[in-house]
Amino acid sequence: MKKTYVLNVPVSITSYDEIINVITRKIHDNEKFSVVSINLNKIILANEDRKIMKIIKSFDCFIPDGISVVRSCDEINDRITGIDLFNKICENNDKIDAKIFLYGASEEVVLAAKMNLLKKYDGIKIVGYENGYVNNNDDLIRKINLSGANIVFIAMGSPRQEKWIYDNRKVIKANILIGVGGTFDIVSGKLKRAPKLIRKMGIEWLYRMIREPKRLKNVPLQIKYYFKLKKRRKK
Ligand code: UDP
Repeated sequence: MKKTYVLNVPVSITSYDEIINVITRKIHDNEKFSVVSINLNKIILANEDRKIMKIIKSFDCFIPDGISVVRSCDEINDRITGIDLFNKICENNDKIDAKIFLYGASEEVVLAAKMNLLKKYDGIKIVGYENGYVNNNDDLIRKINLSGANIVFIAMGSPRQEKWIYDNRKVIKANILIGVGGTFDIVSGKLKRAPKLIRKMGIEWLYRMIREPKRLKNVPLQIKYYFKLKKRRKK
C-alpha cells in the first residue's frame, strides 16, 4: 500500500476497495493487518508524544480520516473514514468471510450496536463483544481468542485504542485489528452522525465539536497544528 507523510505521520494512499481486498487476502492467508485513522487529533498526539508516534507508525494502514489531512496531501482526493470503512466491511462480510468482535464503548452501546448490525446486514457474523471498561485484560484476550474472531473493531477513542492494539496485537489471534473511535456510539443510535451536507462541506469536525463539547479542550493545539498543515500545503 502506497503512503505519504503529514508532519511525519504516515498516511496511506488507498481506497475503500483496496483495503477490503487486502483484508480479504490477509484473512485468507492468515496474516495480520492493522488500521489506524489519521486526523488532526492523531497528528497532534503523535507530534507531541514520541511514544504515540512510534505506536502509530507500527500500524499497517493509515486511513486519511480527517479533512485537514486530505487537504494536506496532493495525492489524496477523498477522506477514508473509520465509520465508513467499518460499514463497508460489514457490507462485504460475506466476501471477506468476516467473523467480527466488537470491543469498546459502554455495555449498553456495544450491545445495541451489535443488535443493529445483525438487523442491517444479512448473515453477518458477530462472534463476540465486550464493553470498553473491562478491568481484566487477560480475560478479555481469552474471550476474543475463544470467539474465533478474525476481525476486531476497537472503539475506545484515541490514543487509548491505538495503545491497546499495540500492546496486544501479538497475543490476539484475529488477523485484522481496526481502531474505529466513536463508531459504536453512532451505529447504536446513541449519537447522530453529521448530515451529508456538513460532511461534504468538510466541517464534520465542527459539528462534532458542538455536539460533544469535551472536544473543545483541544482547540489551542488544533489551531497551532492547523497552521502547520497550512504551511505544508503552501510548500
Ligand atoms: N471509551 C471506552 N473505554 C474508555 C473510554 C472511552 O470504551 O475507557 C469509549 C466511549 O464509551 C466512546 C468512545 O470510547 O464510545 C469515545 O470515542 P471518541 O468519539 O472519543 O473517539 P475518537 O473518534 O474521537 O477517537
